[in-house]
Amino acid sequence: MTTYCDIAPGHPDHGPYHDREYGFPVTGDDALFERLVLEINQAGLSWLTMLRKRAAFREAFDNFSLERVARYDARRRAKLLANPGIIRNRLKVEAAVENAKRILAIRKSHGSFAQWLAAHHPLDKEEWVRLFKKTFVFTGGEITGSFLLSIGYLKGAHEEWCPVQARILKSKPAWAQARM
Ligand SMILES: [Zn+2]
Repeated sequence: MTTYCDIAPGHPDHGPYHDREYGFPVTGDDALFERLVLEINQAGLSWLTMLRKRAAFREAFDNFSLERVARYDARRRAKLLANPGIIRNRLKVEAAVENAKRILAIRKSHGSFAQWLAAHHPLDKEEWVRLFKKTFVFTGGEITGSFLLSIGYLKGAHEEWCPVQARILKSKPAWAQARM
């Protein structure tokens, strides 16, 4: 079977993401929010599409500033739905705004989205999915699993033989800390 670790290295879009981002810990709340929004928008599409639209997404969503996106009114959301650079899907746009609001609420209770994730760790995938379904919108099993893999909360982003795996281990992802 061909895996992401086979096809990504050297690819103009997948390569940099695979080598430097996929599976590595993410600590900034806006960066975590960006990853969640990209995973939600990927539903039904390819990750390659998301990587190619990433710059347009950043521009359209104010660099994924949680405070700004949480305040998007109907007019701002309509503007997003008219932007051909992003995914023009009403439910996905609404989910970005609603999840920004929910992450801001999490900040009030836990200090940050990153600390909220850390406070719940370790959970297995099913427990994470239950928690995400109850906390956010548009976060089913596949999206939640992909998001957690991509930020190093679930093991398995990379194949054991992939050289990036060793670099991720040195950066101490959450899934490895639970085993120590
Ligand atoms: Zn890999």
